[in-house]
Amino acid sequence: MKKADLHIHTSFSDGTFSPQEVIAQAKKHRIDCVAICDHDCVDALELATDFAEKEGVELIPGIELTAEKDDNEVHILGYYIDWKNKILLKAIEEMQKIRIERIYDMIEKLKKVNVYIKPEEVFQISGKGSVGRLHLAYAIYNSGYTKYVKEAFKLYIGDGKSCYVNKFNFSPNEVIDIVLKSGGIPVLAHPGVMGRDEFISEYAEGGLRGIEVYHSDHSPKASEHYLEIAKKMNLLVTGGSDCHGLGKQNVLMGTVTIDYSLVEELKKAAGRL
Ligand code: AMP
Ligand code: ZN
Ligand code: FE
Ligand code: FE
Repeated sequence: MKKADLHIHTSFSDGTFSPQEVIAQAKKHRIDCVAICDHDCVDALELATDFAEKEGVELIPGIELTAEKDDNEVHILGYYIDWKNKILLKAIEEMQKIRIERIYDMIEKLKKVNVYIKPEEVFQISGKGSVGRLHLAYAIYNSGYTKYVKEAFKLYIGDGKSCYVNKFNFSPNEVIDIVLKSGGIPVLAHPGVMGRDEFISEYAEGGLRGIEVYHSDHSPKASEHYLEIAKKMNLLVTGGSDCHGLGKQNVLMGTVTIDYSLVEELKKAAGRL
């Protein structure tokens, strides 16, 4: 049976694997098809496409766009996007600017709780592409303020915590529209993490085409619940590990895979089959 992992980050956002390493890992774990979905960034896709072709791994060009709803982050995956689309690139440029400003804002808030991080430290960790909270969490941990990287989220920068800053200007339906305009299929990422099911019909009206039913943060019960919703609302079903590389050892590639038949459904929807 062919299998796929449709949610993988590279070092161009907050993963630790380069695009080449992602493809090599897919091969090693015998995953037939992978989707690279970096946060608000498409810079890995060109490189990864060339490498995937050489290695005989099927690659779906993807993205994970950040939106905001009621002060909470909502992540929208876009599959089969045209990564050269001007509307998409303009939105990404704006999001990159917001991401950088937000690091400075969170660093200011951290000072108030006696956590002193230099912006350069964070930008050195993030390197090319998108900077984000996971990079800031590494910096907090590296400076000895927490015992684990994850603890930085729990104490300071997790959703709704005292040093968390959310300034993304885009609503979920706006980013859904951006994905559609770039020829992609918009899918709601890890709905179980947000737990605001009441908004799904509003997103579907805005053009949402699928739900990420299988995810490393979903319990079997949660996956069952979202499978039901997807069926009821006639939405596509996707899934993936949300692998971030060595930063999150317990969710390495292939820890969540889906049957290839779901990829075929996605392909059909994207007009690629
Ligand atoms: P950002 O896009 O900058 O808001 O950061 C979101 C990313 O931070 C997620 O994709 C995860 O990589 C990481 N993250 C968010 N919350 C947590 C958490 N509680 N524990 C570990 N990582 C987290
Ligand atoms: Zn991430
Ligand atoms: Fe996400
Ligand atoms: Fe992700």
